Amino acid sequence: MEIPEGYWGIYKDTENMPLERFDPFRTIINEFGTKVGHITQFSPLRGKRPFEHKNNNQIVLEELHIERDSFCKVVAGELPAVVLSQDGNISNHPLSVEPKKENLESHTAISIVNLFTPMARVLYQHTQELDSIQDKSIGVGMVHLLTKHYDTLSDASAKEIIELLKTTQIAHKNSVDVLKEKYNTSKLTILHFFNIGEEAGASICHIHSQTYIYANDIGHGWTSLGFLSVPGFHKKKMNNLNYCLACKLVENKKIKDPLNQELNFEERIVFENEEWILLTAFAPERDGQLRLIPKRHTSQFLFLDEEQIKKLAEAILIANKALDEFIALAPQSMNLLQDRNILFRQENIGYNSDMHLLIDIIPIQRIGGAEIMETYRIATMFPEDVAKIMRDCLNKK
Ligand SMILES: [Zn+2]
Ligand SMILES: [Zn+2]
Repeated sequence: MEIPEGYWGIYKDTENMPLERFDPFRTIINEFGTKVGHITQFSPLRGKRPFEHKNNNQIVLEELHIERDSFCKVVAGELPAVVLSQDGNISNHPLSVEPKKENLESHTAISIVNLFTPMARVLYQHTQELDSIQDKSIGVGMVHLLTKHYDTLSDASAKEIIELLKTTQIAHKNSVDVLKEKYNTSKLTILHFFNIGEEAGASICHIHSQTYIYANDIGHGWTSLGFLSVPGFHKKKMNNLNYCLACKLVENKKIKDPLNQELNFEERIVFENEEWILLTAFAPERDGQLRLIPKRHTSQFLFLDEEQIKKLAEAILIANKALDEFIALAPQSMNLLQDRNILFRQENIGYNSDMHLLIDIIPIQRIGGAEIMETYRIATMFPEDVAKIMRDCLNKK
């Protein structure tokens, strides 16, 4: 099979490879020895990918009840894919160059290589050596999906979500091991997220999550800097090498943080089970933002054990339903859309920052100039009130 340049992250010509640039006015080298700042990634071939929410006549496919998106076709064996894992079992090598058509309907969830990745996954032998292409983006981009078609996460069952999380973990682990060995590095940047809905950046309306694992030592923005540097700052400030803010909150529910802010967890809790706490964010990035915190200290999604995964499926499903209800009730002036992103804030691999994993669920809301200028948001409702509305909605069910 002749593979078009850039498909599944396979490149023949280095000129076509995606590359990363840092804004030189806002980039430093941090205490972990890596560049941190504002990154812009250029992926020239990605601009040509198809957009499946609307056809040429701008008719929304959902309205036509067409559920034959690319992922449905991959599952039916009508389109080729590089399957990395399925229902907890490893399938192809993460650097495979052999996409295949294969009926996958007997599985619940699968992980496949992203067809249009913003990084090169495989370089053909005649390309230059890795050290001469340092500014290029290298790694594995993957997609994790349920074989059954759903538009949103709220429509899936907890059982299906467990399988989705499991296949995701296996695909992560396998790719991490292969990249570490191939590029002889202990450090990897791992971005894992759901884009749900067109406005949240999803180009296919079949529920899926994505992972970008970067093998080059770049890929950290200011947000990563914050999340990776804060645990060390907290330990120093509190004069306690074992201090973890999230663990303290789970223990106490009402504490003063290292900045001397009063955090009252109780008022913001929407749901909890044995392993997870779901609460509205203390300083939300958008109105309605939810945050999931594991009760046991865990720094990477990869490290979640079976019990944590099982309970995460339940909590993430409830979180999505609570947010659906809140957005439906929210005043029009809030400009909240049902579309949302789910961001797994975790420790990059090989950093030993001791950060506590957080999962943020953030709906789409318009933002303005001040908010683009700074890591700063204007919210119109206190998260304590948002939590009360969400709890009431869940209780009515
Ligand atoms: Zn579909
Ligand atoms: Zn912790």
